Amino acid sequence: MKITPHGAAREVTGSCYRLESAQTRILVDCGMHQGSAYNDARNYRPFGFDPSTIDAVIITHTHLDHIGRLPKLIREGFRGPIYLTKPTKDLARILLEDAYGIMKEDFEREYRPMLYELEDVEACMELMEGKSYSRWKRIGDLKFRFRDAGHIFGSAFVELEDDAGKHVVFSGDLGNVDTPILRPTAQMAAADAVFIETTYGNRIHEDHKERMEVFRSVILETIKQRGVLLIPAFAVERTQDLLYHMNRMVEDEGLEPVDTYIDSPMAIRVTDVMKRYPEYYDKAALARVMRGDDFFDFPGLRLTKTRNESMLINDAPYPKIIFAGSGMMTGGRIQHHLVRYLGKRNTIVFIVGYQASGTLGRKIYEGQKVVKVLREMVPVKAKIVSMGSFSAHADQTKLLNWLRGAATLPKHVYCVHGEAEASAAFATRVKDELKIQADVPRNEETITV
Ligand SMILES: [Zn+2]
Repeated sequence: MKITPHGAAREVTGSCYRLESAQTRILVDCGMHQGSAYNDARNYRPFGFDPSTIDAVIITHTHLDHIGRLPKLIREGFRGPIYLTKPTKDLARILLEDAYGIMKEDFEREYRPMLYELEDVEACMELMEGKSYSRWKRIGDLKFRFRDAGHIFGSAFVELEDDAGKHVVFSGDLGNVDTPILRPTAQMAAADAVFIETTYGNRIHEDHKERMEVFRSVILETIKQRGVLLIPAFAVERTQDLLYHMNRMVEDEGLEPVDTYIDSPMAIRVTDVMKRYPEYYDKAALARVMRGDDFFDFPGLRLTKTRNESMLINDAPYPKIIFAGSGMMTGGRIQHHLVRYLGKRNTIVFIVGYQASGTLGRKIYEGQKVVKVLREMVPVKAKIVSMGSFSAHADQTKLLNWLRGAATLPKHVYCVHGEAEASAAFATRVKDELKIQADVPRNEETITV
C-alpha cells in the first residue's frame, strides 16, 4: 500500500490521507486547513490528486479539519461512497452547514470566495453511508472497520487491511481520558503501520480532579465578582462535557444555579443528535438517562437559538455564564461577547480546547494585551484561564499507552496531526520507550507499507 498525506503532516489541521492499494484508491478524512489566513487560502488550492479517481472516502469524525473539504471534493469530481459512523453522519450536516454560514458571512463582509455551495453539502449527504463500530466493510481489494476513538461523539479510528495482508491503522483523533458521556478509546489490533495524531504529543494534561476543581473555581469566582464567564466552546463535545459536569454540580453537589446561556444554535443541534444515540453513551451517562436525568437540562440553563435571544444576553443580569462558538474564537457569536466583555476585569475567559496557531484564541491564550475582534481593537483586561485537560485530545501519556496496548506492538509509527515540534517529540518517545521505528512524514510525501 502507498499512503500520502495531503494535509495534517507537521501541522494540526487539514487531515487527508490518500491510500493506494493494488486496485483501490481511497481517502481517509478530507479536512479543512484552519487557523491563519495562509491556511484558509490553502483550502482553495487543488488537492494534489484527481478527486474523480478516488473510489471511496472514510471519515474518522466530524470535526471540520477532518470533513471540511468534502463538499469541495465533490465539486471537483468525486462520486464514490463516504463511510462514517451514524452519529458522525448526523453531525456532519450540522458542521458543514455551519461552516457554509460562516463562509457566507466572510463573503458578504470581505468578498472572500466561497469554497462550496449548499448544494455540495446536499450532494455529500447523499453519498454518506453510516456504519457501526467493529463491522468490516469491503472496498475493492481492501477492507476496513471503525473502532471507538473516544474523542468526540461518534468518533472512530480506522483499521484497514489489504488482500496482500498488510494492516494499517489511522488513529483519527484520540480522546482524552475520563471524558464524560463517551466510551473509552478501544485498543487496536496488530498493525504494520500506524498514523497517529500528535496534537498534544509533547504535553501532559492536568489530571481529571484538578480540571473539575478549576472549572468549579472559575464558576465560583464569577458568582462572587458578579461577572461574566465566557467559554469559547467547540459546539461538538466540549460544550456537552461541560454541561454534563455543571448538571452534576448543580443537581448533586449543591452549586448555586447561575444563568448559563448556550449561545450557539450549532451546539443546541449537536446536543439533539447526542440525545438520539444513547447506545453510544458510556455506563455512567447511560445510568443517568435510565433514572430520568436529562444531563442537558438543569436550573439556570438557557438555550439561545435566535439572534434576538442572543442579543438579550447583553442586558441579562450578572453573574452569567456564556457558552458560544467558535472554539478558537475565529468567528461566530463568541466574537460579539468578546468585544463586549474582554475589556472588563470581572470577566473570565475559560479556554478549554486547542487553539491553533494564528487564531484569535491563540493570541488571547498567549497573553496579547490588545486583540482585533470584528475590526475593533479590544484591550484584554479579562482573566484568561486555560485547561488543556478539557481538550478532546489524548496527551502524550495516553498516546503512548494506546500504542503499548495494541494486540502486538505496531511495526512502524508515523506521527501526524501535530505541530512539527509536538510530532517530533512524540516520535522520539516512541523510539526510546517502545523501540518502534517512528517518523514524522511531510505533506505530499509517499510512504510505502
Ligand atoms: Zn478532532
